Amino acid sequence: MKSASPSHPSLRIVVLGTGYVGLVTAACFARLGHRVTGVDADAAKVDALRHGVVPIFEDGLQPLVSEQVRLGRLGFTSALDRALPGADLVVVAVGTPPAPSGATDLFALHRAIDDLGDAMPHSMTVAIKSTVPVGTTDAVHQRLRERIGRRGLDWRVPVLNNPEFLREGTATQDFLCPDRIVIGAPSADDAAVLDAAYAPLTARGVPVLHLSTRSAELCKYAANTMLATRISFMNEMADIAEATGADIEEVREGVGRDLRIGPAFLRAGIGYGGSCFPKDVGSLRHTARTWGITPRLLDAVAATNDGHLRWPLRQLSAAVGGDDGLGGLRVAVWGIAFKPGTDDIREAASGIVLRGLLDGGAHVQAYDPVAMPNAVALYAGEPRLRWCASAAEALAGADALLLLTEWPEFIGFPPERAAAAMRGTRVFDGRNVLPAGHWAAAGLELHQVGRPVAPALSEAPLGAG
Ligand code: NAD
Repeated sequence: MKSASPSHPSLRIVVLGTGYVGLVTAACFARLGHRVTGVDADAAKVDALRHGVVPIFEDGLQPLVSEQVRLGRLGFTSALDRALPGADLVVVAVGTPPAPSGATDLFALHRAIDDLGDAMPHSMTVAIKSTVPVGTTDAVHQRLRERIGRRGLDWRVPVLNNPEFLREGTATQDFLCPDRIVIGAPSADDAAVLDAAYAPLTARGVPVLHLSTRSAELCKYAANTMLATRISFMNEMADIAEATGADIEEVREGVGRDLRIGPAFLRAGIGYGGSCFPKDVGSLRHTARTWGITPRLLDAVAATNDGHLRWPLRQLSAAVGGDDGLGGLRVAVWGIAFKPGTDDIREAASGIVLRGLLDGGAHVQAYDPVAMPNAVALYAGEPRLRWCASAAEALAGADALLLLTEWPEFIGFPPERAAAAMRGTRVFDGRNVLPAGHWAAAGLELHQVGRPVAPALSEAPLGAG
């Protein structure tokens, strides 16, 4: 990996917001040879980082942060005014959560811009890495100028848009080896400092696309909503497959081999979740309506997804729910994180499924290899929910198993052990990752999304109901 060198000068960079994106950005820019200070309004988070504790689970991030801190290239503070002197570039990576209306809540961004305008000791480039609706970067540019103007100053401060495309679970790798870097700027001059920040990557061939600020903003939403659309499209195909007796996995193979389509993001399952897709689809729908456009396709993408998040509940009720609904059932749940490789549970399918199970009267035994600490507080005081120490423990005496997150340890779990531990035989694989033949051969009835049910092929072991 190339880092800053005499041909790539080292910059002083401040990253505002050290959440999933900000912390990865700060650590990776340090890895590229820059001197980086991460600033966060959350003093406890800063304190943890200063003590070498990375407060999120993200593959490879802890060692990278430790290494860069040890090398003296990365530090953390909650005092913005102490971080800014000498900075060339400020990267803003604060959260932009959804407001109840579906609009994007820009409170944290506005706060960050105001703080910057008050504390900036000299002119520097500002890059908005948070995902923001089209027009926001121009608007905050104006806001920043006004804020600086209140101090009687008239600096030229370039404000750019630099959307981030990293995926949680592979975030550092995605940042350091991206498919492309997108920079939205009014002019090439404005982009010069950000270009220099990415120079070690562009020098080894990573393409950088210079777009208008608004195109860069929309590009981020277009990418995420395109991926969400592919997921919902395949989920609708899975519904049709389920109803007609086709197998969506065979369909996926046949479709994905078409070079015009390609194989990525064609997996049927229980829908998308996480902190980005639901929020970004919602935000773009809101933007469209604000501009007088009815986003029919995006509305359908969201509706299909809402339906699929409930697939495990629907299937379970249809298969085992009697007059009492789910009352009295003991259900094992594997996976709480919205996807493997992260402890992020924001908008995860598990939220809807756990709620549905508990409201339906089921007893739940749940396990996730890393995300449980984030979930425990959310479900405190639920007497019928038990957090388990292992995948095996979650299965003990269960009438059914629901797989919600495709962690490798679930995919590789021996089905004979599952059959021996469970009381019932029904398994609902919401990610289509369990090898159907093996699970059926172990005496378990495997339900997968958009696939014919794989009936148990042998007698369930003694004790299995
Ligand atoms: P996050 O909630 O994990 O982190 C945001 C951080 O900003 C928090 O630590 C918070 O304390 C801090 N913060 C809020 N206001 C602040 C202020 N005024 N000054 C300093 N710090 C402040 O959010 P995230 O998941 O890292 O997402 C950040 C942005 O990046 C969002 O716009 C998101 O849509 C976008 N994004 C996220 C991902 C992802 O995978 N998480 C990927 C691409 C883009």
